Amino acid sequence: MAMNQNIVKAFNEHLNRELFSEYLYLSMAAWFESLNLKGFANWMRVQTQEEHAHAMLFYNFILDRGGTIALDKIDRPDQAWASPLDAFTKALAHEEFISRNINDLFDLSLAAKDHAAHSFLKFFIDEQVEEEKNAAEIVGRLKLIGDSASGLFMLDNELAQRVYTPPAVAPAP
Ligand code: MG
Repeated sequence: MAMNQNIVKAFNEHLNRELFSEYLYLSMAAWFESLNLKGFANWMRVQTQEEHAHAMLFYNFILDRGGTIALDKIDRPDQAWASPLDAFTKALAHEEFISRNINDLFDLSLAAKDHAAHSFLKFFIDEQVEEEKNAAEIVGRLKLIGDSASGLFMLDNELAQRVYTPPAVAPAP
């Protein structure tokens, strides 16, 4: 069953949002590098890889369903933040925005009775719970840390441990 054109358009728009997410976190990674917070930068670099994988899942799904890829320009992300807490607060707000969009796509696919799109989006519904939780935990830790440099460096060491694992979704048929 071919995707209806509204869904193709909405999926392309979301592909752009995931690419913007990659861009945003790449910008945050560079900012953390400039502060010599290498662990925070590592966490953001890993996050960019995840976002790229998310974008490619949408890209492949659109192609697999016979839809046309329509890449749009990617907005320019901010280049600096007031503090690590500010950066992660913005990251959390961004993930909440992504979650709302995924939920809207889910509703759209249900309304169109596009069960394949609906099934595809289930991974992202679950993934967004994880994304919000991860960002919210770091926001919470940074609030506890406050102005403590030693606390910040301890968290930096912890975030240095993050490694990229590709999303555990079966390859699209
Ligand atoms: Mg994402």
